[in-house]
Amino acid sequence: MANFASDNVSGASPEILEAVARANAGPAMPYGEDDITRRLEALVAEVFEHEVAVFPLATGSGANALALSVLAPRYGAVYCHREAHVNVDECGAPEFFTGGAKLVALDGPHAKIDAAAVAAAVSGAGVVHHVQPAAISITQASEQGTVYAPGEVAALAAVAREHKLALHMDGARFANALARLGCSPAEASWKAGVDVLTLGATKNGALAAEAAIFFRPEQAAEFPYLRKRGGHLFSKLRFVSAQLEAYLTGDLWLRNANHANAQATHLAEGLQALPGVEVTAPVQANEVFAALPRALVEGLQAKGFVFYVWRDEGPAPLCRFVTSFDSRPEDVAALLAEAARLAGLGGH
Ligand SMILES: *Cc1c(COP(=O)(O)O)cnc(C)c1O
Repeated sequence: MANFASDNVSGASPEILEAVARANAGPAMPYGEDDITRRLEALVAEVFEHEVAVFPLATGSGANALALSVLAPRYGAVYCHREAHVNVDECGAPEFFTGGAKLVALDGPHAKIDAAAVAAAVSGAGVVHHVQPAAISITQASEQGTVYAPGEVAALAAVAREHKLALHMDGARFANALARLGCSPAEASWKAGVDVLTLGATKNGALAAEAAIFFRPEQAAEFPYLRKRGGHLFSKLRFVSAQLEAYLTGDLWLRNANHANAQATHLAEGLQALPGVEVTAPVQANEVFAALPRALVEGLQAKGFVFYVWRDEGPAPLCRFVTSFDSRPEDVAALLAEAARLAGLGGH
């Protein structure tokens, strides 16, 4: 059945499964001492056109929490959007891994924060009673499927520099953002001032693979120990690295993301054309947020279409539809046809 609940309802790309199978041939040294993991660091440096320290991980929450744990001290403040995954969807892991740093939740339209909001919030440096400004964390693409343009990231980076904050980017859907922006990985990250990118692959074709990428390797000095201590150093790390290598090879990540984004755009355009439907956030990646008349929501669910009701209030609940690298165009078409039928616009 057509499932638009999230992009992690999808399986994995054949190229990634094949890479894992290839990595299975013969012995390899454990804990990242293998050839694939070594090659990965060089590949990431090449793709991002910068010296990097790369740490393959298997969950995005682990990658975010560990990244923040080296960027913020126990008494630090991390500025992020109120809806940020680090703030609401990680069960306190960032606070736990940092040893108690405070996430300072900021508001901003469509799940993005801007430079002015951060500048207005940063305070208390040197005041013993206050948490000490340490980092900014932004999500690319955001929790509402919107995308930060490089200029917006650069403006945040300028605030970061002024206040000596690190800039972290939660890139669980970085490829979707990159596909949308059409710029280089470098332009979307370190050239815009990002210090640490947690690059997701799981939601865009991997089995379980994320990477913490430090563009200033000296900032990563403690990371190996914190990763091991946090239980995120995999003994057969080659299998995680193999997924990331395949992901970044031959533009697989961008091909997958382009497909997912195109399906979301098509879905959004079709929904928006229906009476009573309002797409509530610009569709810039692979997520569609739309308020749908309740009868439409229930009718689609009754036909077996799966999606999240994000906020169940009023006559038009807010729904979230997520497309992925293997979303089938015929499933998107089927959902739109059924929605049009329910809206009384034809069909039978
Ligand atoms: C999915 C996601 C993550 C990572 O989640 P895990 O389930 O821990 O892998 C991180 N950030 C965002 C914005 C996400 O959507």
